[in-house]
Amino acid sequence: LVQWEGGGNQEKILVSVRLRPLSEKEIAKADPSDWECINETTIIFRNSLQDRPMAPTAYTFDRVFHADSTTREVYEEAAKEVALKVLSGVNSSIFAYGQTSSGKTYTMTGITEYTMADIYEYISKHEERAFVLKFSAIEIYNEVVKDLLNPENTPLRLLDDPEKGTIVEKLTEEVLRDWKHLKDLISICEAQRKTGETYLNEFSSRSHQILRLTIESSAREFLGKDKTSTLVASVNFVDLAGSERASQALSGGTRLKEGCHINRSLLTLGTVIRKLSKGRNAHIPYRESKLTRILQPSLGGNARTAIICTMSPAQSHIEQSRNTLLFASCAK
Ligand code: ADP
Ligand code: MG
Repeated sequence: LVQWEGGGNQEKILVSVRLRPLSEKEIAKADPSDWECINETTIIFRNSLQDRPMAPTAYTFDRVFHADSTTREVYEEAAKEVALKVLSGVNSSIFAYGQTSSGKTYTMTGITEYTMADIYEYISKHEERAFVLKFSAIEIYNEVVKDLLNPENTPLRLLDDPEKGTIVEKLTEEVLRDWKHLKDLISICEAQRKTGETYLNEFSSRSHQILRLTIESSAREFLGKDKTSTLVASVNFVDLAGSERASQALSGGTRLKEGCHINRSLLTLGTVIRKLSKGRNAHIPYRESKLTRILQPSLGGNARTAIICTMSPAQSHIEQSRNTLLFASCAK
C-alpha cells in the first residue's frame, strides 16, 4: 500500500459523540433526557432528576452532536475529512460505537451514503485520473467472518500476507460499474443482515459489520507505463456490535460463547484504540481479535480513524451512556 505523509497529528483519532432524540416509546414512558450539549465540543449530564441532585458532569470531545443534529452534519464535521483521505491513498476507518438502539446503524448508513456520493462526485471532476472502485462487505459474528455479498462463502479465513498484512481469503470483491451498482450491493448487505434478525432478534446487536470501499487510481498519462504512480487505499465503514456486550464482559456475564467472542472483538478494539491514541511506542494487540486483525491496515500507522459514539438520551440508559462516554474519553 502507498504510504502517504507521516506521523504527527495524523495519528490522532477523531472522536465524536452523537445524542439521538428520545423515541416515541421513551417519550410515552416519560423517560426524559438529562443530557445537554452545551456547545460544539461538550456534553454535560445534569443529574438534576435525582432526589438529591449532584454536580453536573461534563465530557469534552472533538465534536458533540445534540439530538436535533442531522446525519449530514455529523458526516460533514466528524467523518468526511477522514473518509475522503482514501482519495489520496490513505486508509481510513469510520466507526459507530454505542449500545444497541443508540443510533449506530442510523448514523453509519447515512455517513456511508454521503461518503460514496462525495467520492463519485470527486471522480467525475478528476478526469485526468483513472479510478477503479471495489466493494466488499463482511460481518463478524461469534468470531466467524461472513461474506455479506456471498453468504455461502462462510466462514472466511484470515491469512497473513507479507505485503498486505492480514487479508480475508476468498472474500468477494465487486468491481463497481457505477453508483447504482454500489447502492444495489449495499441493499443486498442490508437485506442479508435483516434475515439474521428474523430468527434472532438480537443478532445485529452482537455482530460487527464492515463495508469496505477500495479505490485504486492512477494518472491517465502514466497508464500502463509507471506502476508506482498508482494509489491504493480503502475506507471502512464499521457498524459495531452493541457496546453493552463489552460492559457485560467486564461485569462477569460471559457465560455464552457468543457473548465472549463479541466481547473479545469489542474489548480488543477498545484496547487497540486506547493504545493508538496514547502514542506510537506501545505494543498494539491487533492480533487478539478478528475485527482488529482485519482492520489493522486501516488503524494506526498512517491510517486515519474517526469514531462516532452514539448514545441514547433516556434516563433508563444512563449507565450505558456513561460507559460509552468513558470509551470515547479513552479513545481521545
Ligand atoms: P443501533 O444500530 O445502535 O442499534 P439504530 O440505528 O437501529 O440503533 O437506531 C435505533 C432506532 O432509533 C431506529 O429506529 C432509528 O431509526 C432511530 N434513530 C437512531 N438515531 C436517530 C436519530 N439521530 N434521529 C432519529 N432517529 C434515530
Ligand atoms: Mg444497528
